[in-house]
Amino acid sequence: MIMSTKNEQLFAQARKHIPGGVNSPVRAFAGVGGTPIFIHRAEGSKIYDTEDNAYIDYVGSWGPMILGHAHPKVIDAVKRAAEDGLSFGTPTPFETTVADKICEIVPSVEMVRMTNSGTEATMSAIRLARGYTGRDKIVKFEGCYHGHSDSLLVKAGSGMLDIGEPTSKGVPADFAKHTITLPYNDPQAIKDCFEKWGEDIAGVIVEPIAGNMNMIIPEQDFHDTLREQCTAHGAVLIFDEVMTGFRVGLGGAQAHFGIEPDLTCFGKIIGAGLPVGAFGGKEEIMSCIAPLGGVYQAGTLSGNPLAMRAGIAMFEDLTVDGFYDTLADKVTKLVDGIQAAADRHGIALRTNTLGGMFGMFFVQDENSTTPSNFDEVTQCDMTIFNTFFHGMLAQGIYLAPSAYEAGFISSKHTDADIDATINAADAVFARMASA
Ligand code: PMP
Repeated sequence: MIMSTKNEQLFAQARKHIPGGVNSPVRAFAGVGGTPIFIHRAEGSKIYDTEDNAYIDYVGSWGPMILGHAHPKVIDAVKRAAEDGLSFGTPTPFETTVADKICEIVPSVEMVRMTNSGTEATMSAIRLARGYTGRDKIVKFEGCYHGHSDSLLVKAGSGMLDIGEPTSKGVPADFAKHTITLPYNDPQAIKDCFEKWGEDIAGVIVEPIAGNMNMIIPEQDFHDTLREQCTAHGAVLIFDEVMTGFRVGLGGAQAHFGIEPDLTCFGKIIGAGLPVGAFGGKEEIMSCIAPLGGVYQAGTLSGNPLAMRAGIAMFEDLTVDGFYDTLADKVTKLVDGIQAAADRHGIALRTNTLGGMFGMFFVQDENSTTPSNFDEVTQCDMTIFNTFFHGMLAQGIYLAPSAYEAGFISSKHTDADIDATINAADAVFARMASA
């Protein structure tokens, strides 16, 4: 049982000059309660708190640490890059190498622009869709997160096709009124929306596999309908693969569904853990960006040499034959083991997995199906999740501190890590069952 009091002290110190003590809200453990752990180093499958307690990590910096933490090849590339200078504000050959790599792996991407975060990538893709089509409205889906730009921090009102209200304070209603929010995984809602507003819709942005309301793999029909309707109405289909890109498989969710989006957003993985994002797609659309076209998009540190050289080193491993099969095997072993433990103790658990990503839902009872949209996710038992989360944490297993987040594995997770995780889950479920 890990007992650290240092975290409380560090959290109190952090709260003095950092709002909520964190630089991104989910880190504050607001959903699960308790004190966040402060990490000072990481290696392979593990992160270490400031007293050097080890935790087997299933967050992986929210996805990018697919090769495990502090991978020697990546660290070496970053060290060499740092010695050559941190940023030049000029083009570098490394950006071209990464762009070529992305276009080679993801056929729908013919041109790509680097950014510094996923938020910048999605925000720029939306502006580009608007600039390209000359239309204002965008469509997003309930429970999908696309970063914190104004147009995208909008959630639906109660009606299916209601014009959105800002869910974040500070988003002008004038912006929000251009964002239509639909239920996820509902082909009819897409058809109805296009029938009503088809001529005004610049683009549709979607997490092709949702990773921000736990993990939901939608029906093929959802994606087929999206592609069909966007094509029929001249709207830009934007896949936000910030989470799923190079994670659920080498070709991302679009390869899984066999769909060619018009634009794709990437993040996280392509910089191997350094700040990075990218958006790319059809040359005809991408050519509208400055300096080729009139849609402005820029970034002093975009295409930063450290991030690019880290990414190049990482792509070498991702493109090795069988990399994603091995990763998927690890996830399957982990999730099957946890499922068996839950079944043994009568805990109603449903799961989803693809590639190196997984989702776990504590559903209402054994008759409940796997959630397939945001409403169903909200019906899951958050109290059970919180007990599970803290029970695992106390045994040195770090899961995402929210029932609305997906899980991630790395190529460095060993059988021993996975067995230890399953045993820890078994112990927590046994305690829950006897409580
Ligand atoms: N899109 C998706 C699908 C994401 O999961 C995230 C972040 N979790 C973002 C966009 C925003 O990326 P960033 O946090 O790098 O700005």
